[in-house]
Amino acid sequence: MTKQTLALHYGYNQEGLGTMAVPLYQTTAYDFKTAQRAANLFALKELGPIYTRLNNPTTEIFENRIAALEKGEAALAVSSGQSSIFYAVANLAEAGDNIIVAKKIYGGATTLLTHTVKRFGITAKLFDSDNADDLEELIDDNTKAIFFESLSNPNIAVANVEKIAKIANKKGVVTICDNTVATPILFNPLTKGIDVVVHSASKYITGQGLAIGGLIVERSGLNEKLIKNERYPHFNEPDESYHGLVYADLPFPIFTLRARLSLLRDIGAALAPFNSWLFIQGLETLAIRIKQHSQSALKVAKFLESHPKVKKVNYPGLKSDPYYKKSQEYFKDGMCSGLLSFEVDDFDSAKEILNSTKIFSVVVNIGDSKSIITHPASTTHMQVPQKELLESGITLGLIRLSIGLESTKDLINDLKNALGS
Ligand SMILES: *Cc1c(COP(=O)(O)O)cnc(C)c1O
Repeated sequence: MTKQTLALHYGYNQEGLGTMAVPLYQTTAYDFKTAQRAANLFALKELGPIYTRLNNPTTEIFENRIAALEKGEAALAVSSGQSSIFYAVANLAEAGDNIIVAKKIYGGATTLLTHTVKRFGITAKLFDSDNADDLEELIDDNTKAIFFESLSNPNIAVANVEKIAKIANKKGVVTICDNTVATPILFNPLTKGIDVVVHSASKYITGQGLAIGGLIVERSGLNEKLIKNERYPHFNEPDESYHGLVYADLPFPIFTLRARLSLLRDIGAALAPFNSWLFIQGLETLAIRIKQHSQSALKVAKFLESHPKVKKVNYPGLKSDPYYKKSQEYFKDGMCSGLLSFEVDDFDSAKEILNSTKIFSVVVNIGDSKSIITHPASTTHMQVPQKELLESGITLGLIRLSIGLESTKDLINDLKNALGS
């Protein structure tokens, strides 16, 4: 089945009353009926809802639908994209370990992975995800994860996914790819040898800027990479916090299972069932929205490229873009999402443009049906130190656009007026 159809139907067959919409199970807990069933659920002899911090029937349909769209084996939904990144990393690394992180990533991921997790004793080394030439030499015995974005926010760079996977597999290190901007419709990192995908559902998946959420998806066969791998003792040794359970002995996808049973259980960034329900509505139109976002963004990118006040446009769908070849090879029908950025002279010129647009809202979000304009250096990436900013290509004159679903003609006119002639 195509992804467009899966997004509408997968994992729900109108059981019960036959409701066309997936039911919203707005509940904290579940009646086990018998003491034995309760004991079986806790001992993992039976799988089923226990408590909404751990699982919920509405959220489970959302998780299974995303796993299907990503061509993965299992998914875990959490309360934000940030918590999905933290859980994916914390599931692999602990104090004394290191992770290797791409230079060109979302500002929140940079501060989380290079500063906040350092306070837990996990250090980050930076690598260049464009070519991954420096990746192999950065890996040591304590390296537990390699993190990068398929289509990066806000540089709109396309990673060399296959090369990253190849090097990581040679060394037995788990790879984590943030696929938020590309969405599972345009690209499936798990089919290119990546082990784990994370998402912020707050962007294209909700599609209308309605809720915050995140996901972790694991590829099928990831168990084999984790089992008996000396890098990952926590999957192979008894977990004292779960009466000596050994994850490697279980007949389930153990990456997301352990993230659920230990991290979600203890740290508790659970997704609200209502938000899962909203994301399910978003998924229904994801394929058609991303097509429209991509078509409009390409038109806007071409307009900006021809404008004398614009120094540079970053959009991998443009033939002049350094990532054009990779984007056409990787992304479905060469579509590149609605995210693009462009550079003007300096901060003052950028500010003037932000203040002059009428349809674009000055907002720090992407993937909304309404168009958005952002100045990353003073907002989303303000907390990132200057040196790291420039290393990741974020200059003071860089403006990011998230192209919405308004008429492209109106959007181009709005930008034309804001840029002046
Ligand atoms: C927004 C974003 C995140 C963080 O997600 P939240 O849902 O806002 O916590 C992570 N990665 C990327 C690429 C993003 O765009």
